[in-house]
Amino acid sequence: MPSVMWFRRDLRLRDHPALLAAAADGELLSVFVLDPRLWGPAGPARRAYLARSLRALDAGLRETGGRLVVLTGEAEREVPAAARAVGAQRVHVTADFGPLGSTRDTAVEAALTAEGRTLVRTDSAYAVPPGTLHTGSGGPFRVYTAFLRRWAEHGWPAPAPAFTAPEHGWVDGSALDRITTAELPPTEPPAGMALPEAGEGAAWRRWRAFVDAEEPGEHGAAGYAERRNRPDLDGTSRMSVHLKWGEVHPRSLLADLSGPGDGPAALRRELAWRDFYADVLHHRPDSARDYWRPEFARLDYDPPGPALDAWREGRTGFPIVDAGMRQLRASGWMHNRVRMIVASFLVKDLHVEWQHGARHFQRWLVDGDLASNSHGWQWVAGSGTDAAPFFRVFNPTGQGRRFDPDGSYVRRWVPELRDLPAGSDVHDPSPADREATGYPPPLVDHAAERRETLDRWERMRR
Ligand SMILES: Cc1cc2nc3c(=O)[nH]c(=O)nc-3n(C[C@H](O)[C@H](O)[C@H](O)COP(=O)(O)OP(=O)(O)OC[C@H]3O[C@@H](n4cnc5c(N)ncnc54)[C@H](O)[C@@H]3O)c2cc1C
Repeated sequence: MPSVMWFRRDLRLRDHPALLAAAADGELLSVFVLDPRLWGPAGPARRAYLARSLRALDAGLRETGGRLVVLTGEAEREVPAAARAVGAQRVHVTADFGPLGSTRDTAVEAALTAEGRTLVRTDSAYAVPPGTLHTGSGGPFRVYTAFLRRWAEHGWPAPAPAFTAPEHGWVDGSALDRITTAELPPTEPPAGMALPEAGEGAAWRRWRAFVDAEEPGEHGAAGYAERRNRPDLDGTSRMSVHLKWGEVHPRSLLADLSGPGDGPAALRRELAWRDFYADVLHHRPDSARDYWRPEFARLDYDPPGPALDAWREGRTGFPIVDAGMRQLRASGWMHNRVRMIVASFLVKDLHVEWQHGARHFQRWLVDGDLASNSHGWQWVAGSGTDAAPFFRVFNPTGQGRRFDPDGSYVRRWVPELRDLPAGSDVHDPSPADREATGYPPPLVDHAAERRETLDRWERMRR
């Protein structure tokens, strides 16, 4: 009997248990639903990336004799209609634990069940699926370090064998109301943005180059622990966008990181953060937009205004902040250390609520992921799990000097500062240097805003 594989954020053929389950079921129809409710809000950067990733998946499926059928419309209608049209009993998916995805899946499941069909959830996008791990008292984890211990003890299965060709062949989907990946709506990245190469093949090329580097040099996993905080170096894996779209499964990456060494251990801990935040969001879906620690809603914030615009556009006059905000617009990605610096600046120097920043990130990040983004922001804002204490306020100039010691990251993304004369401090240009280069004066006095933010925090606590 035919079966349907409904691809979502699992755009790959390797280590894909749901795809293997679908292929074992019967002749295979593989679909992707371009749902306008998700397509619109994804923003131009992620839409453009997704279109490329879908084409890469389609090309991979064609090598096995199949292809990807793209249905446009609401999943609750399109998926049951496709299953009905080809006479499939079961629709296979990788389980989605996000607030929107799980609600959508419940609705699709109800529509399928009403016609006597089944939605089969296999696997998840995480090493350990959200909701699996519990504290000693049976509750959800609220502290990352405790989660990490339990996560490592629990472990995960070895990667599944790669999909080659379905044992029962392919369903002819040509009778469906569908488009091909060549007919996807026009999708260009925002002007001036260079996207990373999309698709499973590109993900594995980047990963192999990173993990197999023989010297503990810039690109290698071996040097990761020392270099991961340095935005001036290409020292991190750049896997976030590939994980976001499921072009690789974290389990496959973890299988390459089981050996000794500080680098692999540090990377395992970062992948655990991804699982942790998905788990936290699963238990508190409201924390995607609301304060995980509700008392922070009482903190006195400033309404969004011109300062937020200056932050968005990378013209705050703080070089490391502006470099990060411009890197985001130019590449759809920002280094983690700089994400923390710019987030701290928005919340603690400009006193703007984290949700405004998170929304801007979601608009521009190619790896934009609700759980990691909302909780990355809440961690910095002090309102999240296991958060950096609120009174720890990043000094943007000090952070710049420490993590971009020769200023090459700032020079790369802030062209005005590229040719500062020798002896000038690229992280704190003098008024004369600013005047000469057209780089703006600092938007605020960091020391004064730090005091202001701590005063507001004390008032909230009273
Ligand atoms: C304010 C803020 C917003 C963020 N928004 C996102 C987001 O929308 N999407 C996203 O994938 N990550 C987000 N992060 C986490 C982190 O910045 C990125 O995952 C990382 O920079 C991606 O680069 P990389 O793949 O080279 O990471 P590496 O350093 O190579 O890490 C390997 C993988 O571990 C995971 N990881 C690493 N750090 C974190 C972290 N702090 N939280 C969760 N997972 C982590 C990612 O999947 C990453 O690809 C955010 C962090 C902050 C502080």
